[in-house]
Amino acid sequence: MAFSTGIFAKNKKATVESASKANYKPLSKTSAKIWRSRISWRITSAVFLTIMAIQAVVLSLTLDQKEQQILNVVREVGRSSIASTLTETMKFLETPFTQEKADRLISSTIVNGFTVYTTDLLLLGSYGEPVSMVMLDQESLSKTYRTNDGGSYEVVYRPNDLSRPYIIVARLNSDKVAPQLFNFVEQTIIIMLLMSLLVTTVLMIALGHWLLEPILFMRNNLITAAKNPENPKISESPYGTADEIGDTIALAQKLIHQNSDNMMQVRSAAEDKIHKLAYFDTLTGLPNRTLFIQKFTEMAFNVTDDKSPRLAVITMDLDHFKDINDSMGHNVGDAILRGVGKRLRNSLPDHAIVARSGEDEFSITMPLSTDLNTGRDVAEKVSAIIREEPFKVYNENFQVRTSIGVSTFPDDGKDPSEVLKHADIALNRAKEEGRDRVKEYTEDFDKAVQARFQLLRDLRDALENKELTIFYQPQFDLNTGAIIGAEALLRWWKKDDSKEGGHYISPVEFIPIAEQSGLIVPIGEWVLEEACRTAKTWEDAGKEIRIAVNVSGAQFFQSDLVGHTKNVLKRTGVKPQMVELEVTESVFMDDINIAINTLKELHELGVELAIDDFGTGYSSLSYLRQFNIDRLKIDQSFIRNALTNDDDAAIARTIVRLGHSLNLKVIAEGVETKEHEQFLVDEGCDEVQGFRYSKPVPKDEFWEFATSYDGKLSSFGA
Ligand code: C2E
Ligand code: MG
Ligand code: MG
Repeated sequence: MAFSTGIFAKNKKATVESASKANYKPLSKTSAKIWRSRISWRITSAVFLTIMAIQAVVLSLTLDQKEQQILNVVREVGRSSIASTLTETMKFLETPFTQEKADRLISSTIVNGFTVYTTDLLLLGSYGEPVSMVMLDQESLSKTYRTNDGGSYEVVYRPNDLSRPYIIVARLNSDKVAPQLFNFVEQTIIIMLLMSLLVTTVLMIALGHWLLEPILFMRNNLITAAKNPENPKISESPYGTADEIGDTIALAQKLIHQNSDNMMQVRSAAEDKIHKLAYFDTLTGLPNRTLFIQKFTEMAFNVTDDKSPRLAVITMDLDHFKDINDSMGHNVGDAILRGVGKRLRNSLPDHAIVARSGEDEFSITMPLSTDLNTGRDVAEKVSAIIREEPFKVYNENFQVRTSIGVSTFPDDGKDPSEVLKHADIALNRAKEEGRDRVKEYTEDFDKAVQARFQLLRDLRDALENKELTIFYQPQFDLNTGAIIGAEALLRWWKKDDSKEGGHYISPVEFIPIAEQSGLIVPIGEWVLEEACRTAKTWEDAGKEIRIAVNVSGAQFFQSDLVGHTKNVLKRTGVKPQMVELEVTESVFMDDINIAINTLKELHELGVELAIDDFGTGYSSLSYLRQFNIDRLKIDQSFIRNALTNDDDAAIARTIVRLGHSLNLKVIAEGVETKEHEQFLVDEGCDEVQGFRYSKPVPKDEFWEFATSYDGKLSSFGA
């Protein structure tokens, strides 16, 4: 049967859709970020500084050249000034300058002084500021000289320069050269800066557009994907895959989507698994109780009017399944459960919901139809399905019987949960009435349940108001006739309007309820303490009578029985061997290891231990050896029937022998007649207890009985 996994399917679809839906972000936002990105600034600064450095090197290399250029201009200005001042003279060895011309030249041009030589380097005259350079040979002609402060520059003009047969060494004013050079450097630097800025900006725009913008885009997508890898709401790439960057972005997008798909797959597989674990039983593969309730509630929701088919609700429990499990092992138990599940599923229509709702409990619901017209019809069919043939496990046949509770929606409750509860109540009733039957819910059941709740409330009050009391029933040594013990039996004096003012309620009526609710623990603790106190008063008065106290399963497993017993022994001062705890056989089987341990610890306290109602449970004899016990108490049903039923007599006989073979004492309860007593004497039973000697009686009455008893069993008559 396919149960919709609607929620999960819906989720999956939504995520796939949103993953494929591109969520475009405005790119202007991205480009604005470019100028704030660290990498942009690093590239910008690196590019800018590199351009600046290159230009600085170029500048430093061209600086000399530039200076030379300026000096050349100075030289040329000097030359033209001098050349235009030269006078025509044909006289050899005569200076071509008059003093007056020379003075004018010096005062009005950059020429500050000069010396004139013939082509053979004969000095003809010297004017103005003295010139440092002296022409001694041809080599000197190619020299120039500059003063340290840069203010004067001396050059040699040859006949070629002057178009006259003289060599003139001129000292020229060059103090404008430095400012000019400085101007040049200044301008160059400004141009360099502007150029660098321009280049960097262009580069940045290019880089930004082709590199940074895509990288930032990818980064944004990665951040988004990292935040929510399962459902990454990333933007679709606007970049083509023609270059490496576009390609990388496309790859990253692909990876993000792949990763998301993988995670979705893993998640949906995990969710499916969790769903299976949460809603299905792993052993049978059937829906579990949670899913059953869910499905039943859904179906009930569709029952809208009288025309809608009503729903049958069946809860079913396998009878004595625990015994099969305990005696045959869990493998067999599991195989039977699987078989039951399979048979139910295959035999009931598809629209029926079949669930395993508890350990050995199955629940079924289905709409009633013309052939299965009532809840009982469905239940009978279910019962027939199970009993029609035994279940075969490991070649052994197991005949399974079931207890079934039935209710119908909407007849048996105003809402689905009430109808379910009523099916459970009906099931409990089927079990109480001896199992292997179908019980339909009726309102009386509810009343019975209400009555139980009331009883429980009253019992709680009774414990507080000290309305509980203990009766004592003597136990005798069958050989000597001596009173050797007394069983403490709980009584509840419930007040009423009768003339006695109340009546006793039998423990058979309220102990099971007290056990179910856990109230037995405080009650049991009270009984133990009270009984020990009584035993101590008897001991103090000179009679050693061992007190036998009944201990229920809840006390045994759910409370600190050992600790409490130890405290009570200490508080009351009674001798431990004067106290016996009676535990019914079936209690041990709930958890054999804890049972063995607890018995051992109790035994170490020195108290005696007896197995009550022996023979009625399913205790495996192999464990008996491991129990630290002193006494077997034959169940009264065997004694009652021993004289009329050979089987019961044989069981009683066997218990006596078994006990003796294990070195245990054997006591028989329910001894009502002389014949019972004789049977037990014949079988060699050690001790007896029963109405033949005394009913359970109040403390004072018991004491009277014990002190007046002559020690002879024969005194109780024939
Ligand atoms: P049990 O421990 O097997 O106690 C023996 C029951 O048999 C007692 O019933 C007693 O009155 C009854 N009985 C004794 N001799 C005869 C006889 O010759 N014939 C007949 N027909 N009955 C006889 P009672 O007092 O009604 O107790 C019933 C059960 O209630 C006890 O069975 C025991 O399991 C439980 N119970 C009683 N007191 C306590 C208690 O303090 N704690 C716990 N946990 N269970 C208790
Ligand atoms: Mg008992
Ligand atoms: Mg008993």
